[in-house]
Amino acid sequence: MNNKQTKIYNQIRATASTTLAKIHRVQEDSQFFAVLKNFPPYLKKRQELKKIFRVAFHNQTKTLIISNVGANLISKTVKSGKMYALHHKGLIVLHPEHPTEMVDLGIVGDILRSEYIILRAESACTPSFLMGSQRCNCFDQWLQTQELAANFNPLPTIISDATDPEIGIKNYFNLSGEMPVSSASEGQAFILMHLSSQNGMGSGAENNKFRSDTAEAAHLRHRGEYSAEQVLNVSMAGGFETIGLSPDPRKLNNFYGYQIPAIVLDYLGLEKPVIILSNNPEKIRQLEKFGFEVKTLHLFGRVDKFDRQETADRKNEFHHCISVRNINNDKELEDLEHEIRRTITQDKDHKSGSDRISSREKPTYLVGNRTKNW
Ligand SMILES: [Zn+2]
Repeated sequence: MNNKQTKIYNQIRATASTTLAKIHRVQEDSQFFAVLKNFPPYLKKRQELKKIFRVAFHNQTKTLIISNVGANLISKTVKSGKMYALHHKGLIVLHPEHPTEMVDLGIVGDILRSEYIILRAESACTPSFLMGSQRCNCFDQWLQTQELAANFNPLPTIISDATDPEIGIKNYFNLSGEMPVSSASEGQAFILMHLSSQNGMGSGAENNKFRSDTAEAAHLRHRGEYSAEQVLNVSMAGGFETIGLSPDPRKLNNFYGYQIPAIVLDYLGLEKPVIILSNNPEKIRQLEKFGFEVKTLHLFGRVDKFDRQETADRKNEFHHCISVRNINNDKELEDLEHEIRRTITQDKDHKSGSDRISSREKPTYLVGNRTKNW
């Protein structure tokens, strides 16, 4: 951060420290506009900006958060073409000693009514998302998450059948604080979190160093470690080491890259239990560290001969809880949907004192709280 940015950051940090709240919302005009002018989005003062952007401070991590209020989108899943409604926000998370983190957030369903929030926190992977690379399963996992979100939250006909669906979708979500909620949805809430700055496992990060250009650094570094794998025939961790990086730079700065999902959930004001769709033990551990009650559902997306090598590296070098057996994509989707419904029902039964739970078979995918040894 430059001197001006550091000064603004320190002022807000001092104000925020006088409150006990997890999140201090910056409302005061001079601080609010100073942030928007000196940090991204770098906009000069206009009163309307207060309706479009939000500035907040996360007390536990001392991070400054800048977000837009978001837009409601009619979306379509890639795999089966199902329509659903999604609220899309963009956020950046800043700290003077850590890299800039950028997050794209998609919220589906009704957060207020849902007992659990189902979360997929995806570190960016351009080879699979943009180029359709089959070397890894990242995009397949994202596609499965889309399908699940849409299955639990189909687009209401009042929007899909309307002559101008844009009018319907505009009013579909309302903000309750910073949480988009929809009285039109009875569905289970999903949070699709894309950690856009974390390309190549956050390879733009450096230890104890603020970088404003994290995404640019990651852009070339990720190509570098990926190229090294093929040019020099090294493993995934070997690719990082070849270009002088530690494998999984999200672990640098006291696991800062892994803390971003918890910071974002705190920013939303979310205090509900989370079902995370993940195979990465660190993503789970950090949410728990921040006080979230977490259940885990493994999500493989795809395992076949095309991604077997990277899957094995993830398992052996990065300790992901992942199967190297072939995965039937459609069957996995069915199983996940089943497990989610079962978890929600079990929890309700449990709360109402039903004894039916003990007679049920143990879920296949559900790991539960992290008592299991990975
Ligand atoms: Zn990938």
